[in-house]
Amino acid sequence: MEFTGTGIGQGVAVGRTLRMPDPLPEPDDTASTRTADDEAARAAASMSAVARELEKRGELAGGTARDVLEAQAMMAEDPSLIDLVTQATASGKTAERAVFEAFGSFRDQLAAMGGYLGERAADLDDVSQRVIADLQGVSAPGVPQPDEPFVLIARDLAPADTALLDLDKVQALVTSDGGPTSHTAILAREKSIVAVVGALDVLSIADGTEVVVDAASGSIVTEPSSEAIAAAERRIAERRAAASAPITPGALADGTSVPLLANLGSSDGAQDAADLGAEGVGLFRTEFLFLDAGDTAPSIDEQTAHYVKLLQAFPGKKVTVRVLDAGADKPLPFLNDAAEENPALGLRGLRALRANEQILRDQLSALAAADAQTEADLWVMAPMVSTVEETEYFVSLAHEVGLKTAGIMVEVPSIALLAERAFAHADFASIGTNDLTQYTLAADRLLGSVAHFQDPWHPAVLRLIGEVGAAGAAAGRPVGICGEAAADPLLAVVLVGLGATTLSMSPSALADVRHSLAQFDLDAARNLATLALAAEDAASARAAADEAAAPLQKE
Ligand code: PEP
Ligand code: MG
Repeated sequence: MEFTGTGIGQGVAVGRTLRMPDPLPEPDDTASTRTADDEAARAAASMSAVARELEKRGELAGGTARDVLEAQAMMAEDPSLIDLVTQATASGKTAERAVFEAFGSFRDQLAAMGGYLGERAADLDDVSQRVIADLQGVSAPGVPQPDEPFVLIARDLAPADTALLDLDKVQALVTSDGGPTSHTAILAREKSIVAVVGALDVLSIADGTEVVVDAASGSIVTEPSSEAIAAAERRIAERRAAASAPITPGALADGTSVPLLANLGSSDGAQDAADLGAEGVGLFRTEFLFLDAGDTAPSIDEQTAHYVKLLQAFPGKKVTVRVLDAGADKPLPFLNDAAEENPALGLRGLRALRANEQILRDQLSALAAADAQTEADLWVMAPMVSTVEETEYFVSLAHEVGLKTAGIMVEVPSIALLAERAFAHADFASIGTNDLTQYTLAADRLLGSVAHFQDPWHPAVLRLIGEVGAAGAAAGRPVGICGEAAADPLLAVVLVGLGATTLSMSPSALADVRHSLAQFDLDAARNLATLALAAEDAASARAAADEAAAPLQKE
């Protein structure tokens, strides 16, 4: 049987399944035999014990996991949650039941918001389970710990579990819920765990079933044939070889240079990226810096300190920072609090910044100050640019504050089609294939029911990328790719064939892409691009490129 979901990365694994244990049963709604004050005190003590435990796990895990676990620890002691719990205990409920109900109502509110916030609902469920387990004196349901390696199947994983997964034991991770932006996905990407998320019905797979999990195709095949197992094992060996190959600068077989850069969301990941051979940063997302700051934008000094830390990690290298991309899946109260019917088409990205120009000016000033103190080659770019006029606005503002190299992200079809006119102003372009695919196919990138449209192999998306590549070549301007498409090893070759001059991705994808580029010369890359462009849909574009690539691949 085959199940499909969204694959994270390119990994493949063969193993036997184990399901995450079921959640704790719902606490009874019978009246407490203790006083209301006792129950409130029990709840408060367990909430704070869980917060401390999550912080401790965060310290152990480090990196992005630490940020996620600290955010969860804050949920465990959120004052409005404590109020709700206290109200419930005051009405005679047990601490267990009060926690269950209070967290449950918060969870439903988050889930109803959808998008980035909706995907935090699983985090809140996990905190609730941990508090109830602490109150009952039992251990919180967590990842099973068998002696043998296994493929973990779960509804969704809590960050606390994903962060401390024993990577020697867990061969792959499969969830029935959660999308590509859930914490499970983010952390799996960071730790290079083979993962498929949002694969409906996988909870029906019995423990101990042999499966092949293929993140590249997003599939889980149960009881696979011996040929399928052999093919998967070949790919595992190839990936291992690519991962242990010497780290060289990204290049095609004929020596054409294609610098491989990292996508980062925090300066904490800079060292890991450099260790994996990132030749610079192609996309530094600044949203997390602002999301963490709460209700106001961080000050110029706070931002400068953060950017200095990032730039110092890449002396002499290119570091491309994207100014704040708020709105849609990344709402920020001080930028766009108006409820919008279609936030992805609303006041987001550069549009929101322009409506709050001081925030943009402050961010650019902080970047210029950090640039002056460090040796990296700083480039800045704006998200969600849809017109030539916006391009001119952003680039001239960045130059005005003293930033030398300013460009735009190409994420909206209108600007891809007018790329040659945008290059009259922009020093460079970087194509965000995640949004470019969403806007070209008119399919919300966060919505599971239309996820099958979100495929950057679609020839319409490739044609737009080709337009930008050709315009960049004519104007002598670099064209980078910084969406997820750059992390797909074969698509990366096609993108170079379409005119991409650099590729930026999660650092965990660098080895696979480096290995793949080295198999093809520029003519072959252009030929694959022509074949993919001629296809009718994403699947046939991929199939045509695959078929033509196979005889050229050495191993
Ligand atoms: C993109 O849209 O491809 C992109 C890189 O930006 P983000 O995923 O942050 O929207
Ligand atoms: Mg984008």
